[in-house]
Amino acid sequence: MNSMLKKTILVLGIETSCDDTSIAIIRGEVGATDRRPTILAAQSFSQETLLRKWGGVVPEIAARNHTLKLTPLLEQCFQDSALKPAQIDLIGVTTHPGLLGPLLTGLNHAKTLALFFEKPILPVNHLYAHLEAIHLTNPISYPYLGLLVSGGHSLFTLVTSAQEFSILGSTLDDAAGEAFDKAGKLMGLGYPAGRIIDQLAKEGDPHKYKFPIGLQRSADTMMSFSGVKTSMRSFLEKNPSFIHTRAEKAQDESFSQEIKDLSASYQHAIVSALTLKTKYALKKAAAMGHANIPIVLGGGVACNSYLRKELQRLFPSVYCVEPQFCTDNGAMIANYALRTASLKVDFPGCLKMDARGRFVDKAYGRKSDRQ
Ligand code: ADP
Ligand code: MG
Repeated sequence: MNSMLKKTILVLGIETSCDDTSIAIIRGEVGATDRRPTILAAQSFSQETLLRKWGGVVPEIAARNHTLKLTPLLEQCFQDSALKPAQIDLIGVTTHPGLLGPLLTGLNHAKTLALFFEKPILPVNHLYAHLEAIHLTNPISYPYLGLLVSGGHSLFTLVTSAQEFSILGSTLDDAAGEAFDKAGKLMGLGYPAGRIIDQLAKEGDPHKYKFPIGLQRSADTMMSFSGVKTSMRSFLEKNPSFIHTRAEKAQDESFSQEIKDLSASYQHAIVSALTLKTKYALKKAAAMGHANIPIVLGGGVACNSYLRKELQRLFPSVYCVEPQFCTDNGAMIANYALRTASLKVDFPGCLKMDARGRFVDKAYGRKSDRQ
């Protein structure tokens, strides 16, 4: 049986889909799509430093770290908000897509709380939550064109309500974040490299080196970022002096102008592909009857200052998710649970919920989302 929720509710959000353990408690009104919820507490732990020595995410290790961090972060959130778990009305938890082990740790915590306090759970699609995080700061109306760019995904989606997402195009291979991270690794910049390349590029010349713009000649919404990464690999094979070595780092934290130019040129190719394909995605949305709609930029790569600037320069109505809500965070999960609260699964049925793993939406047309 689906119990009724009151109008103003407290939502706990749990995010563990990859390498960020993140919890938030928000208060908001059910059905008030035009009003911002209030964040009462938010706590995160990023495994970036721990995972750096492996050069990327190791799912087993990430899952174990989530298990260690979830309880202290939850306790801290309840302490910060002066709330008790029994007062929570709804638990939102990322169930897909993501790494299966990490997803299961978050879901099991959600189920444990649901079992103890007889609470409903809302299974959250992490990708939708990234885009809908715009409502944490800007209460914009539907429809909008969502451009989601993260470490695992790059896609365009036409969003007509908090529950209706039509995928208009996606990457055929690597995600934009992956292209930043893998090139950064080859350049010796460490993991994850998106933020570092963004910083270095600020003082570099984006036209110094030429990198390919993925699928530039195909007038559609498909993207590809593996070519640009391969091109960086060949460049570094021919010019090994550009690789930032550990020894240099120890002596000198200031990077050479060549590395700044290389970063700016590489970033320019990725951003140019994204802005070019945004043009086609808007055309596709218009052909579906949704002309002149705003663009919402979300996901970890949405932190990229050049991408934000270029989209705002080229298109009339662009809303970027605030950087603090771009990388994986509990507030966006709680926010999405609030916005779709009617889909909650009541106790005890919610204890049967499963986590559904990562391989969705990557190659548009081959596999579909499972929400
Ligand atoms: P996922 O959900 O796929 O794990 P996130 O949404 O947490 O990914 O985003 C992480 C990705 O965002 C990483 O690939 C990281 O390099 C990238 N990223 C973060 N900040 C920036 C930035 N300023 N410029 C480019 N990429 C960035
Ligand atoms: Mg993410």
